[in-house]
Amino acid sequence: MSEPDLLVVGGGPAGMSAAIAASRRGLRCTIVDEGFDLGGQIYRPPTSPLRAPEPHPRGEGLRNEVRALADRIEVRKGSAVWGIFEGLRVAVGVEDRTELFKPRAVLLATGAYEFVPPFPGWTLPGVMTPGAAQILVKTMGVAPGKRVVVAGTGPFLLVVACQLLNAGVKVVAVLEASRRAPWLALPFHGFRSPGLLLDGLGYLAKLAFAGVPVRYGRMVVSAAGDESVRSVTHAPVDRDWFPDRSKSEAEEADTLCVGYGFVPRAELAQMAGCALEMRPDVGGWVPARDRDLRTTVPGIFAAGDGSGVAGALVAELEGRLAGIAAAVSLGALDRAEFNRVRRPIDRQLARLIPMRRALDRISAIQPGLSSLVDDRTTVCRCEEVAWSEVRDSIRAGSSTYPTVKVSTRVGMGACQGRFCWPSVARLVAGELKCPLADVGQGSARPPLRPITLGALATSPREG
Ligand SMILES: Cc1cc2nc3c(=O)[nH]c(=O)nc-3n(C[C@H](O)[C@H](O)[C@H](O)COP(=O)(O)OP(=O)(O)OC[C@H]3O[C@@H](n4cnc5c(N)ncnc54)[C@H](O)[C@@H]3O)c2cc1C
Repeated sequence: MSEPDLLVVGGGPAGMSAAIAASRRGLRCTIVDEGFDLGGQIYRPPTSPLRAPEPHPRGEGLRNEVRALADRIEVRKGSAVWGIFEGLRVAVGVEDRTELFKPRAVLLATGAYEFVPPFPGWTLPGVMTPGAAQILVKTMGVAPGKRVVVAGTGPFLLVVACQLLNAGVKVVAVLEASRRAPWLALPFHGFRSPGLLLDGLGYLAKLAFAGVPVRYGRMVVSAAGDESVRSVTHAPVDRDWFPDRSKSEAEEADTLCVGYGFVPRAELAQMAGCALEMRPDVGGWVPARDRDLRTTVPGIFAAGDGSGVAGALVAELEGRLAGIAAAVSLGALDRAEFNRVRRPIDRQLARLIPMRRALDRISAIQPGLSSLVDDRTTVCRCEEVAWSEVRDSIRAGSSTYPTVKVSTRVGMGACQGRFCWPSVARLVAGELKCPLADVGQGSARPPLRPITLGALATSPREG
């Protein structure tokens, strides 16, 4: 059994900066990440360096700092945490075996995944998330298609559209569901984060220069094709994102990248027994935290997008804060010193948050997004459950995600609901006209990740 001072789950900007900060205060840290290298989503390094673009310099910087602290930071790549149990015991699957960790403190820095609502045609080959297209381009230098429509909401669409242009792809259009006017007001909120504003303007300029239309207040209502996507139909939407299908237009495309923001990965926090709160403004259920980023379970901290989607800069700052707070909690740093070193971090966070919250408000998901399904639309891909089955279950009395799950098997497949539960929960809330929080969430049971029987059989037993 490994017994580091601090076990960091997730090697993105939050996890790396936490381990760096904590190890500099004398803690022995282990970072566990299921990816093939450190970096998380934004700083994912290329797997084919000859074909993929240069890795992000900030990501390289963090990776180098971790390497320089190799005597105090152990890195476990390709290792997935599949369970967290009482007494801070953490089960990690590595190929065909399980290793048990018994750290003195745990930091959950598990990031977020993309949110994709179901709509007719969304399961066709060629429909993917913007993040998936980005991974193809960023890590392997592979273009996802020849004619691509990028749709959904949020600034991430602009980032991906530009990366696709760089990869030589024809971007047919960027379709942003929210209206243009609130975007024009962003400089009022973001004047304290000029870097982010300039980035956004740079993306828009690049798209304009390449002749890519960025159309606001439009949503993809369906994708069609025999064996893969051939055309994408989109329509203007009202303030609540209900589409006016009489004004639909179709685009010829072989790829549709569609994503409506991110959902925090809070399953480990839930399994550990941390109190969660529903925060639609930052993506959904997140662990409740105090000022020191402590969850309600002693010894467990949480930082980054997994505790509320706020972007890579906030994730890195939160990680640093959590790493130092863990050092304080384990007696490696006194509180007076902590209060001194946290001041500049708090100041930087205060500068970034207004811009972030303004973006969250603009891109907040509206109820019309749940109106895209028809009776035959698959809502759970793993178990092949159609919307009509979920709706019938609701009409028969199911009023929460867990009851819909039990009666229809949504979320019981290989992905354990990671892909479908956020959208099914919204569909249930829409049908019942109740707040999302009332619909509840699925349970988080081990194993959280698919593991081999070998890994389960070799789980170390205690006592
Ligand atoms: C697909 C995708 C692409 C993105 N691209 C961009 C971009 O181009 N530009 C931008 O500004 N922002 C981008 N973002 C947002 C940005 O990546 C995040 O804001 C930022 O990375 C958050 O950092 P983090 O450390 O909190 O989480 P992440 O960077 O997501 O890191 C979390 C890490 O935890 C690991 N992990 C999670 N669960 C487990 C487990 N059970 N066991 C082991 N490891 C686990 C994951 O493998 C991951 O490496 C993207 C987000 C996503 C989801």
